[in-house]
Amino acid sequence: MSQNPHGTVTGNRGLQLEEPLIFEQGVAGRTGVDLPAAPQVKSRLGKAARKGTIGLPGLSEPQAIRHYTRLSQKNFAIDAGMYPLGSCTMKHNPRLNEKMVRLPGLADLHPMQPQSTVQGALALIDTLAHWLKTLTGMPAVAMSPAAGAQGELCGVMAIKAAHEAKGDHGRKVILVPESAHGTNPATAAACGYSVESIPANERGRVDLDALKAKLGPHVAGIMITNPNTCGLFENDIVEIGKAVHAAGGYFYCDGANFNAIVGRVRPGDLGIDCMHINLHKTFSTPHGGGGPGSGPVVLSAALAPYAPVPFVVHGPDGFKLVEEEAGEAAKAFGRLKGFHGQMGMFVRALTYMMSHGSDGMRQASEDAVLNANYIQARLGDIMTAPFPGPCMHEALFDDRFLNGSGVSTLDMAKALIDEGFHPMTMYFPLVVHGAFLIEPTESEHKATLDQFIAVMRSLVERIKKGDTQFLHDAPKLTPRRRLDETLAARKPVLRWRPAAPERQAAE
Ligand SMILES: *Cc1c(COP(=O)(O)O)cnc(C)c1O
Repeated sequence: MSQNPHGTVTGNRGLQLEEPLIFEQGVAGRTGVDLPAAPQVKSRLGKAARKGTIGLPGLSEPQAIRHYTRLSQKNFAIDAGMYPLGSCTMKHNPRLNEKMVRLPGLADLHPMQPQSTVQGALALIDTLAHWLKTLTGMPAVAMSPAAGAQGELCGVMAIKAAHEAKGDHGRKVILVPESAHGTNPATAAACGYSVESIPANERGRVDLDALKAKLGPHVAGIMITNPNTCGLFENDIVEIGKAVHAAGGYFYCDGANFNAIVGRVRPGDLGIDCMHINLHKTFSTPHGGGGPGSGPVVLSAALAPYAPVPFVVHGPDGFKLVEEEAGEAAKAFGRLKGFHGQMGMFVRALTYMMSHGSDGMRQASEDAVLNANYIQARLGDIMTAPFPGPCMHEALFDDRFLNGSGVSTLDMAKALIDEGFHPMTMYFPLVVHGAFLIEPTESEHKATLDQFIAVMRSLVERIKKGDTQFLHDAPKLTPRRRLDETLAARKPVLRWRPAAPERQAAE
């Protein structure tokens, strides 16, 4: 075999096996199953009949199993180790959630079944809605949005519908802080608004005076994340809400970081009009490669009438889905997605809530904040924090401590991979230069946090001694080293083509 970075004959490293693509492994005629010879029938496909082969690789069953098992082992997951990806809340997904969602009475449902046969499922959606309203102190919730970003779309569409219902067509601007997640300005723009950015103050919070100066009859609303993407609580949030309402706008709160405040703060008490909740962050349903998201949106009384269909109501004959924009849903802005929401995620999130109870959820958010502050305190003397004071659920550092070393945040992230940690979120939020956004979540034990801290400390100590080459070379121990991620995103090669036949190659 050709040269490989591990210096082994096979290219394998320990039990991490190197192998070609599944198509490259395929051999014509090899198969994992024995099929009887196809009966000779006269094709009625005419010109539509396939001329070439179907192009599937010929593999034995063990080959196929090994290939996919190895692929799955190359994938880092929260089940494999600490995954401190800030703003993403990669917490443990309790197995009880998985057990509940696999109950045949829930797993085998079909969204087109008659409603009389799915009363239990509708009751479950209604119960989850009740908990979400209770935890947020909000009167209504739209359950159907399929992710945080779609929840944002839902909330801003409700804001737009509310202004239009009042005949207020002059509001063309949504205000968004500089530190916002990219989905916030993207959502506002997708709804036809122009976005004006609000600067942060030296404490990493929204600059209240700058915000007030931007308010006026042209502003439809603001979108603010709380706790914000610097991992800080927006202390002026009540005053922000009052100022926005006084100017006739609505207050969208990005609730992706709800994990830090569940059981401690009810967003409804802060004067917000709508907020999406990422069930897949706060309420432990798997995300990323592990499953779809779910982004229910809680709504104030002012916005509730514009919530999308469908929604569940409880009538004299039991539970019912309101699916048409008529009657009680006459003002609904429409429908956001097919069917009724991410049922599997509803089951998991409700299981999480009921198994934790209100005290358990409060404890979880307190522990998430404690863990992040532990990291901030233990690394604060060797790394540089852009803002003073304790943090909420994530610790934020900038790259000033790397000044003059030639080492970047990216190099540090790559070195963490060699040490067995998923890197933190880097270069976000944009308001901080070379950001390290570390969110340990409440799932991590102190021993794991100590190990993470020890790794970071040792990296920084080596940098201080001028020992930096290893950081530029990292990761050294992974199946692949530094990939050109920009090129991969800009020019993705998604199609495998067979190598040219030898005869042609020889010509
Ligand atoms: C995760 C996140 C979102 C988007 O949520 P998705 O479910 O990924 O669409 C929006 N805002 C913030 C602050 C987030 O962390």
